Amino acid sequence: MTKDYIVKALAFGGQIRAYSALTTESVQEAQTRHYTWPTASAALGRTMTATLMMGAMLKGNQKLTVTVDGQGPIGKIIADADAKGNVRGYVTNPQTHFPLNDIGKLDVRRAVGTEGALTVVKDVGMKDYFSGSSPIVSGELGEDFTYYFAKSEQTPSSVGLGVLVNPDNSIKAAGGFILQVMPGAEDATITKLEDAINNMTPVSKLIDQGLTPEELLFEILGEENVQILENVPAQFECNCGHDKFLTAIKGLGEAEIISMINEDHGAEAECHFCRTKYNFTENELEALLENKN
Ligand SMILES: [Zn+2]
Repeated sequence: MTKDYIVKALAFGGQIRAYSALTTESVQEAQTRHYTWPTASAALGRTMTATLMMGAMLKGNQKLTVTVDGQGPIGKIIADADAKGNVRGYVTNPQTHFPLNDIGKLDVRRAVGTEGALTVVKDVGMKDYFSGSSPIVSGELGEDFTYYFAKSEQTPSSVGLGVLVNPDNSIKAAGGFILQVMPGAEDATITKLEDAINNMTPVSKLIDQGLTPEELLFEILGEENVQILENVPAQFECNCGHDKFLTAIKGLGEAEIISMINEDHGAEAECHFCRTKYNFTENELEALLENKN
């Protein structure tokens, strides 16, 4: 399997900014860790793919978290990513699956729901946060991210996301693209972009054909119009750890910690993002009480 990566590019002489990504391995990692069923895999995979590309728009140590809450049976979809190609994610109800929809696709809309909001929180450093939100307009997610960029970031964009699942629930292929109109772009360029998007083969089909991220952009925009800038390797990566959870337990307060010691003789915590379990001994918890000042 080819390793995941993100491509950053420009098109039409710099008037369009383009991102595309192969995310099959990252989505597979999420599928394995959360044991998602196919419709949930598609919803989580699409969200992770968009989030990963949005991470690639950030700089340095900045990061972002995307929450999709469409009030559907899957519950919330949470994904976060940084500027270095790391992404992780989870959903409230990973064992969500429905029969294929009218056009023979995984019924992501039914799982996600069509009410509620897509919320993005960017940690831009120095304890500074940018937060934006837009209503869920489709539930298929690509259109919802497109709407988010227009509504919340005032950046006309087109977002295409696709995840294909094998009969054994493993991930066959995953990826997507984000195309954005740069300020000052000519009307003629915007028309060309709209035509290209209206006439393109559905993104899930292109991904199924095994197109690389570069080929995906060439296919949509025309190879002669695309200038590739950079490749960023990407992976499912969780930055949780024993000490981080210990700090979180400390934040629960003295009474809670005493009850953990007396009633449970220790504590166990599980990371939502990667499902790693951490165990804390009575001694560790007692040390928290002693060091609390
Ligand atoms: Zn974790």
